[in-house]
Amino acid sequence: MKSIEQIAAELQGYDPKSLSAASVIDFLSRLVEPVTQIEDIGVFDALGRVLAEDVISPISVPPHDNSAMDGFALAGSQLRAGQPLRLRVAGTAFAGKAWSGELGDGDCVKIMTGAIMPEGLDTVVPLEFVRVDGEHIEMPPGVVMAGDNRRLLGEDLLEGQPALKQGQTLGPAALGLIASLGLPSVRVFRRVRVAYFSTGDEILSLGDAPREGAVYDSNRYTVFGLLTRLGVEVIDMGVVGDQPALLEAAFRDAASCADAIITSGGVSMGEADHTKAMMKQLGDVAFWRIAMRPGRPMAVGRIQEGGRSSVLFGLPGNPVAVMVTFLAFVRPALQRLMGCTPSEPVLLQAHSEEALRKKPGRTEYQRGIVSRGASGGLSVRITGNQGSGVLSSMVQANGLIVLHHEQGNVAPGDLVDVMMFDGVV
Ligand code: AMP
Ligand code: MG
Repeated sequence: MKSIEQIAAELQGYDPKSLSAASVIDFLSRLVEPVTQIEDIGVFDALGRVLAEDVISPISVPPHDNSAMDGFALAGSQLRAGQPLRLRVAGTAFAGKAWSGELGDGDCVKIMTGAIMPEGLDTVVPLEFVRVDGEHIEMPPGVVMAGDNRRLLGEDLLEGQPALKQGQTLGPAALGLIASLGLPSVRVFRRVRVAYFSTGDEILSLGDAPREGAVYDSNRYTVFGLLTRLGVEVIDMGVVGDQPALLEAAFRDAASCADAIITSGGVSMGEADHTKAMMKQLGDVAFWRIAMRPGRPMAVGRIQEGGRSSVLFGLPGNPVAVMVTFLAFVRPALQRLMGCTPSEPVLLQAHSEEALRKKPGRTEYQRGIVSRGASGGLSVRITGNQGSGVLSSMVQANGLIVLHHEQGNVAPGDLVDVMMFDGVV
């Protein structure tokens, strides 16, 4: 396990007083080590979990050639260009009940979707294209080509081939695929545990009476939501006042049970409080100013307790800054901790409906609403007041416009990158 100092030494031009968003991500990927413990769980419990091993197909899916339509199975070699075809119906093949009679020349078999293709037949003409005439069918020319409407053995998955890769997060399609292989359970990494608390003497918990200068805690709720959607186990540790004894107890408690700790507040430069001092005292922690907006101050490191180590993310206090730093940095770091294969976020491109002022040399995030513009392309507009404490403009947004480090002002109609919230925020 590398120390903060060792990681810093590996990074070119590391400057804790002005770190680019890209260097933060790079730093965190060196700090965080994936969990290694594996558990075997039932398919219904596997949604959102991360695969610990490749899943190799024990069978082929489908297990045999079968019909993709209700219709008549025939030998494609009998089709003649430009000529109608008349065939005798020799029997019926049902899904789950194969037909295995004798076939003569010019015979076909009535077949249902999913039924095994009778030996020697490779083509299915759908019901709606044929005219039934007693024991016979007649089909016009050109309605099917040889091999049409037949699903091949193993066309979805071939026995012995990897069906899913280690590090993949299991979504609904993956659950179905695992079940299609007849597998009742899968091996996944154990769930990551994340403890979080808010700091500050001015922060009220729900149920507290309002008092002058105090605000209700919102960060624990946004962090709870973001973590829950990520699929980690959450440990809510409440609001911790700005007193050394309380902070020490909270950090020690969190570190004794969690893989990661997220705090908010008390890490900005001018802060005259005990949060930073306690982080420094209990852990190996770096205090950063990040070239970004909103966000900027952040503490990152490790806290050891009882022979185990937790990754610490000390986020700023402002509610939107918390969400933005979580999305930009904490989320990818936690995904790494969970054992997910790293992937670049897929950013959407949309035309900005308005001019946006942007200072080169820092990454700026603006809350936006992406919609389909009049021209058919995607357009994005910002959601009003972009202050770092204004949660209402976050609530209205369906994505974050990401104005990259080197980028300058945006003119109306310019394309900008957007990180969409769907399923995440
Ligand atoms: P700080 O980083 O501690 O200086 O906090 C910056 C701003 O965020 C201050 O206005 C705090 O009152 C506010 N803030 C800090 N923590 C929270 C919280 N948990 N919920 C809502 N606002 C907060
Ligand atoms: Mg504070």
